[in-house]
Amino acid sequence: MEIKERFAERARDKSPSPIRELLKYMTIEGMISLGGGYPNPDTFAFESIDIIFRSGQSVHIEGKNLTTASQYGPSDAHAGLKSELRSWQQHKDAVSLNDDQLVVLNGSHEGLFIMSYLFLNSDDSVIVSEPTYPGALAAFKSFTQNFIQVPLDSDGMDTAALVEILAKIEMQGGPLPKFIYVIPNGHNPGGVALSDGRRKHLLRIASDYDLLVLEDDPYQLIKLDDSPLQPTLQSLDKEGRVIRLDSFSKIFAPGLRIGFASGHPEIIRQFVLFKQSSNLHTSTFIQEILMQYLSSVGHESFRDHIKKNCLLYRTNRDAMVAAVKEHLPAGISYNIPTEGMFMWFEMPEKHNAVRMMENYCEELKVILVPGGAFSSSGGCGNCMRASFSLVSPEQIGEGIRRFGEMIRKDG
Ligand code: PMP
Repeated sequence: MEIKERFAERARDKSPSPIRELLKYMTIEGMISLGGGYPNPDTFAFESIDIIFRSGQSVHIEGKNLTTASQYGPSDAHAGLKSELRSWQQHKDAVSLNDDQLVVLNGSHEGLFIMSYLFLNSDDSVIVSEPTYPGALAAFKSFTQNFIQVPLDSDGMDTAALVEILAKIEMQGGPLPKFIYVIPNGHNPGGVALSDGRRKHLLRIASDYDLLVLEDDPYQLIKLDDSPLQPTLQSLDKEGRVIRLDSFSKIFAPGLRIGFASGHPEIIRQFVLFKQSSNLHTSTFIQEILMQYLSSVGHESFRDHIKKNCLLYRTNRDAMVAAVKEHLPAGISYNIPTEGMFMWFEMPEKHNAVRMMENYCEELKVILVPGGAFSSSGGCGNCMRASFSLVSPEQIGEGIRRFGEMIRKDG
C-alpha cells in the first residue's frame, strides 16, 4: 500500500533531527558521546523513588533506571517500555509489532492530533460516526471542517450505510476521505461496540476504497460483562491500513498521559518525526514507571486487576440502567452498554438538550452532556450523554431521577 502520497503537504518534507537520530548509537558499548546536550545525571533531582501500586506490587527505582527515567530519551519510546508494550499487544490482541511499528504518546489523544496533522489538508474529509468523540473532532477540526457522517446503532458504526455513502462519492467523482475514524469498543458517547461482522466489513470497505482506518480504542478492556474481547481492527488488517491507538488512561491512570500508536512503519516514522518537532518525547519518567509496573505485575494479573476494576463500572452501569427504567418517561431511546463508561439517550425531537441544561441544571442539580458536542454537523440536539464512571450507584439513581424530572419539565 502506497503511504507517502497520502500525507498532507505539511508532513511531506519533514526531516529528522540530526541530533536525535544519533541517539540510537548511544547504547553501543564503549561509545563516548560528545553529542547531544544532555544534562549531567549527577545534577538530577531524585535520589530514589518508591511506588506502591494498588495491585499490591511495589517498585523501587534507583541507580541506572532512575537516571534513564530522569534523562531525555528517544522520541519513539523508552526501549524497555517499548518491549513491554509489544508483548502486551501480543498478549491481548495476538498482534506482533516490530520495533518500528510503535510509538509512545502523551495519551491516545496525542495520536488523534498527530493523525490529523499528518494526513489532513483543509480540503480533505474524515469519516466519523454520528455521534462521535468530541476530542477527536477537536483534533480533526484543527485541519479540516469536512466530515462524512455514518450513523451509529447498537452494533456500532453502520457499515452498510458507509458503503452507500462511499459508492455515492465515487459515482459523483468526489475525492474520497482520508481515513475512517472508529471507536470499536465502549463507544464514547454511544456506549456500544462494533459487532464482529461489521469489523470485518469495515476492513473490506477500507480495502475496496483504499482508505486508512484510525482505530481509537481506550475502552477495549473496560468490559461490563464476561464476553471475550473481540478482535481488534488491527488484528484483522492484512494490508497495514489500520493505525491503532491504545491508552492507559482507563486502565492505569489518566493523569500520567500515556498511550501508544501502532501500525504501518512509514506512518509510525512520521509520528516519531512529529514528536521530535513538537515535544521531543513522552516523559521518560512516566514511561519508566509504566515499564516497571508491567514487567513486575505480568500480563495476566494486570488483566485480572482491570477486570476487578470493571466490576465497579458494572455495578454503576446496572444502577444507571435500573434508574433509567424506573425514572425516564417513555419515548427515550438508549442502548444498554456492555462496555465503556457511557449511556447515550435520544429524546423526542421536541427536546433541546442545551436548553434543558440551561433551564434546569442549577435548579435540579444534575449535569449531563448535551448531544451537540458529539456531532460533527450541529446534530444530536435532542440527545444527552450520561457517564456512570465517577459517581456512586446511589448518586446515579438520584441523578437519573432528576434527569427524568428535567425531561418532564421540558414538556
Ligand atoms: N478517545 C476516546 C474515544 C476517548 O473517550 C478518550 C478519553 N476521553 C480519548 C480518546 C483520549 O484518551 P487519552 O487519555 O488516552 O488521551
